[in-house]
Amino acid sequence: MCGNLTRFDVTRSSKVVEYVHLDLAGEPRVEEREVLSETIESVRCRWCNAVDQVELVDRPGSGAQV
Ligand SMILES: [Zn+2]
Repeated sequence: MCGNLTRFDVTRSSKVVEYVHLDLAGEPRVEEREVLSETIESVRCRWCNAVDQVELVDRPGSGAQV
């Protein structure tokens, strides 16, 4: 790694329910958003372009990785 620990491009896929409210002009606005599932697909370093999944993917399950 290049030493960058704070700036990454995260590719994330998520399944989301949105409560859409249309106003009188027919303009939709999302008033509520519920995330059903979310998967981080890849994490790429902004500085050196290295793709490194490990740091972020491990976190939710195994705890104490920070
Ligand atoms: Zn890097």
